[in-house]
Amino acid sequence: MHFTEPVYRNPYWPTWPLIQITQSCTHNRCKFCTMYKGIPFRMQPLEVIEADAAEIAAMMPEARTIQLLSANPMAMSFENLMPRLQIIKKHLPKLEHMYTATRVSDIKSKTVEQLKALRDIGLNEISLGVESGDDWTLQRINKGYTSVDILEQCHKLEEAGIAYWVTFLNGVAGREHSRDHAINSAKIFNQLKPMLVGTGGLTLFPGTPLLEEAQRGEFTPLTEKEMLEELRLFVEHLEIDCTFVTHHTVAANLTGPGFLARKESILAALDEAIAHGDHDRLAAIRRNKRTL
Ligand code: SF4
Repeated sequence: MHFTEPVYRNPYWPTWPLIQITQSCTHNRCKFCTMYKGIPFRMQPLEVIEADAAEIAAMMPEARTIQLLSANPMAMSFENLMPRLQIIKKHLPKLEHMYTATRVSDIKSKTVEQLKALRDIGLNEISLGVESGDDWTLQRINKGYTSVDILEQCHKLEEAGIAYWVTFLNGVAGREHSRDHAINSAKIFNQLKPMLVGTGGLTLFPGTPLLEEAQRGEFTPLTEKEMLEELRLFVEHLEIDCTFVTHHTVAANLTGPGFLARKESILAALDEAIAHGDHDRLAAIRRNKRTL
């Protein structure tokens, strides 16, 4: 198998098989991310995908799912993406679900008809690291798209029948803009139909522009308690039924399907964590994190 380090897979998706069809990230400029710094974006050559798909088929001929790597394979044009999926499907004809992460802006270059063709070959689940629905925050962290882009591109996915995840990055707006980040993100997400809303907590990793801004006093990170309060505000304003996943931030396990039915219990658990949680322990866990 051919992988370029670092290999980041979605931990909530079946762990294996994985296949790399692009390397790195076309954007590589989000202020909180160093994941692929210094690694150029490139498409995996067709013959490499052919070899890797054959290797997977030899081990798992009955595979029904596969996770496509790396950061944003849908940055490829339809004309480059489709042949790569066709090779994979040729070797693994029983595949039912191909999953990939990608950027909101990658959807822009695809028509709904092209998205339907990608869905028909099996690419039917996508994770979008949206991070915020608040335009001030999106610009501040250099995401490279706006809230209108999120709405337009996600609605195209809905029309094409591709299921998608959206994420909220807890803490990324800093203290001064925390409230707008939480409420405006929920407002944008409420206009969508994601199968899953995921939340992660901001960790300021060495080498990120956001850490440098914090060190210069230009960005005020939230305390662990403030992170929980922001997450609570986001949850309070979120009104869509979906699976809700949260990690990195809270001690209580709030993850599971049926968000609306569980919303009050999630809020109660967050209230408990805000009032009585071991915030020092959460801060220590975050300090020891080395990657997303
Ligand atoms: S957060 Fe995602 S889109 Fe942004 S630079 Fe990192 S890998 Fe690329």
